[in-house]
Amino acid sequence: MNDAELAFAKRVVDRAWADLPSKDRSLLAAIRAEERDATDRPLGVYTDELRRSAGYASFPAAERQRQDAAAGLWIPELRLVLLNVAHPSFQDLDQKSLGWALARVAWHEWGHALAFHRATSEDVSRGQELLALAPPSMAENVRSLTTVSASTPTRSSPRLMPC
Ligand SMILES: [Zn+2]
Repeated sequence: MNDAELAFAKRVVDRAWADLPSKDRSLLAAIRAEERDATDRPLGVYTDELRRSAGYASFPAAERQRQDAAAGLWIPELRLVLLNVAHPSFQDLDQKSLGWALARVAWHEWGHALAFHRATSEDVSRGQELLALAPPSMAENVRSLTTVSASTPTRSSPRLMPC
């Protein structure tokens, strides 16, 4: 990953933000979810540094390793969408395909931001019922996240969504 490739990725993420429907962008800005960036570092390692520098405790090693495997993350406490351009899913793509792939991951992460902040207590209380409606692979991912979440040391640290 060279500087030009990383700069390209940062421009793509900025363009993905600009390409959002204005109503969605306004909604994200209202919950302070407009910050975005791209890195070529594993996200568990990198976000752990960012979180600790902001005064948050580290997640357990298993959670950081899970985040290392993510192509993108929404980091609620930092109000940041972050993409790993060096992620294997972005390798060997031509530039146009890479641009599309990065934008889609960024949009996906902004979707997490909205879901995270707009979920009601009723949504949470219906979790098992809603989980039963999800495709099996997604349901399994959510169940594994719930398991890791139970061992997270600080209750004030919101969950990251490593997918
Ligand atoms: Zn996801």
